[in-house]
Amino acid sequence: MQRTHSCGELTEKHAGKEVVLSGWVSNRRDHGGLTFVDLRDRYGITQVIFNPKTSRSVQEKAKELRDEFVVAVSGNVVKRPKGTENKELSTGAIEVQAKELEIVSRCEPLPLEVSGKTLANEDVRLKYRFLDLRRPEMQQNIVLRHRLGKVVREYFYSRGFLEIETPFLSKSTPEGARDYLVPSRVHPGKFFALPQSPQLFKQLLMVSGFDKYFQIVKCFRDEDLRADRQPEFTQIDVEMSFVSEENIFEIVEGLFKDIFKEIKGINLKTPFPRISYEESMERFGVDNPDMRFGLELVEVTEAIKGSGFKAFSQEIEYNGIVKALNAEKCGGFSKKELDELIELAQVHRAKGLVWFKVASGGLEGPVAKFFNEKILKELASKTKAKENDLLLLVAGKEEVVNAALGSIRRELGKKLGLIDDKKISFVWIVDFPLLEFDEEEDRWQAKHHPFTSPQEKDLPLLEKEPGKVKARAYDVVLNGVELGGGSIRIHRGEVQEKMFAALGISKQEAEAKFGFLLDAFKYGAPPHGGIAFGFDRIAAMLAGTESIREVIAFPKNKAAVSLMDSAPSPVSERQLKELKLKLDLEKKGKK
Ligand code: ASP
Repeated sequence: MQRTHSCGELTEKHAGKEVVLSGWVSNRRDHGGLTFVDLRDRYGITQVIFNPKTSRSVQEKAKELRDEFVVAVSGNVVKRPKGTENKELSTGAIEVQAKELEIVSRCEPLPLEVSGKTLANEDVRLKYRFLDLRRPEMQQNIVLRHRLGKVVREYFYSRGFLEIETPFLSKSTPEGARDYLVPSRVHPGKFFALPQSPQLFKQLLMVSGFDKYFQIVKCFRDEDLRADRQPEFTQIDVEMSFVSEENIFEIVEGLFKDIFKEIKGINLKTPFPRISYEESMERFGVDNPDMRFGLELVEVTEAIKGSGFKAFSQEIEYNGIVKALNAEKCGGFSKKELDELIELAQVHRAKGLVWFKVASGGLEGPVAKFFNEKILKELASKTKAKENDLLLLVAGKEEVVNAALGSIRRELGKKLGLIDDKKISFVWIVDFPLLEFDEEEDRWQAKHHPFTSPQEKDLPLLEKEPGKVKARAYDVVLNGVELGGGSIRIHRGEVQEKMFAALGISKQEAEAKFGFLLDAFKYGAPPHGGIAFGFDRIAAMLAGTESIREVIAFPKNKAAVSLMDSAPSPVSERQLKELKLKLDLEKKGKK
C-alpha cells in the first residue's frame, strides 16, 4: 500500500474519498465494539476507526496494534458525527474508516514515551534520540530550526551575499578556546585543528575580493563542561568588505527583522538601541544586559567615603569601588532570602554583601551604626530609596562588584517577576576594550581576537596604556543573552604588528601561527569587518527553550559525550599504529 496523503492533511473536503495513510500508532483505544487508532506522522494525527461491520478480521488485527507500530491503512474518509469533532487537530473534523490494515513493522516496549506527557530524563532521551525526535515537541523544534536556516539563507542571498564553504581540516584559529585536533596519517606527528570559527578564512576571502560572504557553519571548541555549551555548534558567519560598523548593524538588524517576521510573525523595531561596554558594566554589571527591567546599579564610592565601616574603607583605599542596587519594595525580605543573596555575591568572589532596609526614619540594618546620618542620607538619595525598599551594597575590585551585583540583579529580576516574557529587547554593545589583562598569565589578551581593529583615535595609547584602547568591536544581545559578536578588522600590517606587540606575540610566533594571513595582507587587503551569531542559541530562543540541546538533532550531553552512539570511543590498535600514535593513559590511572 502506498500512502496517498499525510496524517495531517485530510479535512471535510476529503469526505467520501478512499485514501491510504502510513504512520506510527500513537494511541489505540477499544470502545463500544470499535477500535480507534491515532495515526501519526510528522504532519499530524488522523483518527482511524476499525469497525467489525466493515471487516471483522481487519478489526481483530487492529487489536494487535501497540504504540509506535508502523502501519499502512486504507479506507474511506468520513465526517465525524456531530459533537465528536476534535478542534485541536487539523484533521479533527474527519476520521478514516479502515478497510485494510498492514502492519509494516512492530515496536518493542518503549524506553521513553513518544506520545504521552511524561518527559523522560535527558540521558534516556539522548540515548534514544531517534525516538525522542519523534515527539511532536521535538519535531516542531527541528522544523523551526530548518525554517530559521531558510530565512537566514534567503535573506543573505537576496542581499547579494555568497555562501562559501571553508575547511574543517585546518589550522588552529585564535578564538581563545582549546582546539579539537585531528592527527594526520599521511604526515605522522602533524595535526589538523577543527576550526573554532572560520575567522581567518573569511578574512582571506575578503582579500580575494568576495566582498559579501556568509555561511551557516559548524564550529568546534574543546571547552570545559559548561551547562549550555556544545563541543560542536553552528554559527551564522558573516564578513563584508569596504564597510563601517553602520553597514554591519544595518545588515544584522534586517536579518533579525526577517527572522522574527517569518518565524514569529512579529515586527521588530529597528534600529536596535546601542550602549557602550562601559555604560553596560556601569548600569547592569555585565556586558550582556537584560534590559527588560530596571534595578540598575549605582556607584556610591564617593558618597560612602569616610564612613567608619572598615570593610568598605579598606576596599576604597586599595582602589576598589562600592556599588549599590535598590531592590525596590523588598524591605520585607526574610533572613533566608537575604542569606541567599549574600551567598550569590560570594559565588562571584565578593567578600560580602551589605544591606539596608528603608524604614520611615531612614536606613536600618546590622551595619547602619557605622555610617553617619549624612552618609546614609546621601546613599538613600543616590539610590532613590523609598520606604520599604532594600539597598544591597558590594565593595571590592570593579570586576568583582559588577559580577556580584550583576548576577543579583538578574536573580531579583526573575524572582520578583519583573521580566515581561513578551518583550523583545535587542541591544548593541559597542566600544569594547581592545584588550583585557589576564591575571593568571600576567599579560594582555585580545578581548575579541587579535585581528580586531583598535579605534583610530586610541592607536597612540596601544603601547603605553593598552588597557585604555577601545576596539571597533560589537555584540548583539537579546533579553540578556549574547547572540553574536564581531568587529571591524585590522587590515594594515603596521597596526597588526603593534597589536601583536601589545599581546606579547613575537614576530616568529605570529609568522608561525598566522603567517598566511599576514602574507595575504601584503597583497592589497580591503578594509573589512564581520560578525558571527550562535545559530543554535537563536533557534532555542525562538522555540522558547533554555537549552540549545532541544534544537539540535543529535547533541552531546553536558559531559561532551554522545550517549546514543557512545562517541568518543576507543579505536583499534591498528588505527593508532597507522597514525603512529601511542596512548599513555596508565600513568594517570585512567586505562
Ligand atoms: N569569529 C568570531 C567568533 O566566532 C566572530 C567574528 O569576529 O566575526 O566569535
